Amino acid sequence: MNGGKPSHKDENGYWRFSDSNILVHRYNAFKFQKDIFINRCWTEEDEETKKWHVHHIDLNQNNNESYNLLICSEEQHKLVHNQINAMKIVVKSMADFI
Ligand SMILES: [Zn+2]
Repeated sequence: MNGGKPSHKDENGYWRFSDSNILVHRYNAFKFQKDIFINRCWTEEDEETKKWHVHHIDLNQNNNESYNLLICSEEQHKLVHNQINAMKIVVKSMADFI
């Protein structure tokens, strides 16, 4: 879901539209989550959107469908990743135990 525009992966592995260089996941998150940004026609980053992080729920940065994108604050984003990292430690310790 990227509007059918040509896109390419950047050096960090994120998809960007080739014409504008806008990050596809940020575009999709803000465009399709209109309940947060009412009646906005999102075409580029501005002071309001720059405040927000966009998290890939399944941790796959190739999955830029709107259902996979969570708009959150920087603090919330850190918490999400802290939880994921804590879970990875638990899973690893369980695997080591078996
Ligand atoms: Zn994230």
